[in-house]
Amino acid sequence: MGDDAQGGPAATIARQDVTPAGGLAEAADEATRAALIEAGRVLFAGACAFVHAAQTPDQLPPPHGPEVAFAGRSNVGKSSLLNALTGRRTLARVSATPGRTKQLNFFDLAGRLTLVDMPGYGYAEAAKSVKEAWQGTMFAYLRGRPTLRRVMLLIDARVGFKPADAAAMALLNDAAVAFQLVLTKADKVKPAPLAAIVLEAEARARAHTAAHPLVLATSAETGDGIAELRTELASLALP
Ligand code: GDP
Repeated sequence: MGDDAQGGPAATIARQDVTPAGGLAEAADEATRAALIEAGRVLFAGACAFVHAAQTPDQLPPPHGPEVAFAGRSNVGKSSLLNALTGRRTLARVSATPGRTKQLNFFDLAGRLTLVDMPGYGYAEAAKSVKEAWQGTMFAYLRGRPTLRRVMLLIDARVGFKPADAAAMALLNDAAVAFQLVLTKADKVKPAPLAAIVLEAEARARAHTAAHPLVLATSAETGDGIAELRTELASLALP
């Protein structure tokens, strides 16, 4: 992991993410890459079920297996991405149910990984909207969850980084929560501006000790980058 040189608690968390299977960032050759992609496909071919919802810290399920949380501004495309990842519409339907938008929704993936859908932040685009959305239960979860392996922080490729996104990155970094930037709606952006926002995201990731160096560009519409994201998630799952 190229971002570990600075040391510190966040670097320690990031280092733990490198399972023996590794991630795509570490894949040296095509055969390794193909095997990793296949591992991602297999993980998401398994059963996926809504298992729990939490609105208050005492409602959080007891930690057991590895968890990956999905966060981002409202309308970033989180529901669409979760649907594209799992090939199911149930995840988003549960999360979009009125009254369930302000809670953490837990989905079990083949008993190997738990996906956690976090409420969207930042309708007002203000940095303080993250603090409001993530106070209380969300912050208790982010800070105190021993099984939380990584937060996938979604950024709308068409909109780019907003103050609320920068605030979310700072908050995760300060709390030493390992996170990775995932661009959404890549199909809406032409190749040159897409390359530019990937470069910007990589630079922003380098500026945060807790950020994973690999930035993924995805489209729920075309499926671009979905296999790579599944692979990344498989590297965090139980065997
Ligand atoms: P959420 O609020 O973060 O869950 O966002 P949604 O998944 O509901 O998506 C918000 C809007 O963006 C919807 O109109 C989606 O159809 C659209 N959208 C989401 N993902 C994509 C994508 O990959 N490509 C395109 N073109 N539109 C997308």
